Amino acid sequence: MYLQSVELHNFRNFSERQFDFCPGINVFFGLNASGKTNLLESIHVLSNLRSFRTRSFRELVQWEQKEAYARGSVHAGNTNRQVDLGIKTLAVGIKSNTRTSLLNSKPCKSSKDYLQVLPSATFVPDDLSLVKGAPAHRRYFLDKGTFHFYPPYWSLLTDYNRVLRQKNILLRKEQHQKKRHDETCDIWNLQLQTFGSKILVQRVFFLRQLQRLLVDVYAKWLGTSETVQLAYKTSIGLAEDALRQVGESKLHDAHQYVSDEYGEAIERAREREYRLGATIVGPHRDDIELTVAGRPLRAYGSQGQQRTAVLALKLAEIHLFYEQYHEFPILLLDDVTSELDIQRNMKLFEYLQQGMQVFMTATNRPDFPTHQQLSCTYIELGV
Ligand code: ATP
Ligand code: MG
Repeated sequence: MYLQSVELHNFRNFSERQFDFCPGINVFFGLNASGKTNLLESIHVLSNLRSFRTRSFRELVQWEQKEAYARGSVHAGNTNRQVDLGIKTLAVGIKSNTRTSLLNSKPCKSSKDYLQVLPSATFVPDDLSLVKGAPAHRRYFLDKGTFHFYPPYWSLLTDYNRVLRQKNILLRKEQHQKKRHDETCDIWNLQLQTFGSKILVQRVFFLRQLQRLLVDVYAKWLGTSETVQLAYKTSIGLAEDALRQVGESKLHDAHQYVSDEYGEAIERAREREYRLGATIVGPHRDDIELTVAGRPLRAYGSQGQQRTAVLALKLAEIHLFYEQYHEFPILLLDDVTSELDIQRNMKLFEYLQQGMQVFMTATNRPDFPTHQQLSCTYIELGV
């Protein structure tokens, strides 16, 4: 699978542009403010239906314009995943801060099919939100990874979020009317328990696989034996040991165990939820804790350790994908070469030659050693 071309219309500083890519390394270079990150962002939006810079779609539309779109052609050959072969087109249209998505020129009813076409991993060195940001950043990473690892996860999440919205509406109504509707609440709780415990188990399984690969990634590509440790922190009150056992147990046993604990947590939270008018237990409140040598990375890690951890997590995510499907997601790197010393740059280049499609930005055209098997396309922007 690789992205063949992208067509942009009123997307940020691009009024009308088309770019063709090679299946190997694609380098966008040029002066500051020439549009390198914007082009990378358009690929990210096509892949993920969201930007890595903003939650507001309006910002992506060129100033003074009303609408924008990005369209991409994906060559979906040689895939071991359950997506059809051949050329697929992805398109994202933006109008008045809302986006529409099209798969093969047809409006997409479920994002699930769309998001499986062009999986990607993005590394933006400045962005430490995975370490230092709000739990929502880590949950997004977790959900995206778990979904690619186990695609039925998508419907679990959609079902869970739908019921969660309904329960929260009920809780607010109870507060407003000062009247309880325990029976209806029980119905929502039961559904949340069913979907929520499955979500939790899949997340813990995914994290366990990721942790296994992190050790390799650090040793092989980052040249250090110090590894970041991931711990799932759940609002349903399961201790680390119990979660470790969940990760190692058989699926059915794990579901049953987590579901029982979940049910008890719901009961414990009932009064507080009624008072607060919000659901306070469940996967929507969970988080991952990152530690190095037993200490939380967000509080004690150096800038370099935090960056390395983010890069390691992305690389481990890529490897897990490869292990499962024998193909790589596309890799998006913004301004990475300027952040690394020469030795690390050489290592990075070695890494990129494993056969994945890469999009990277650089202010100066980087001098990669030429290589016969490797296709390289240089696109100069701002000229
Ligand atoms: P650097 O090397 O500094 O990272 P860059 O090439 O990555 O630069 P971009 O971030 O892609 O630069 O931005 C290029 C230009 O696009 C900037 O001058 C910015 O002001 C402009 N820009 C951003 N959003 C919009 C928009 N919605 N409409 C028009 N232009 C925009
Ligand atoms: Mg940039």
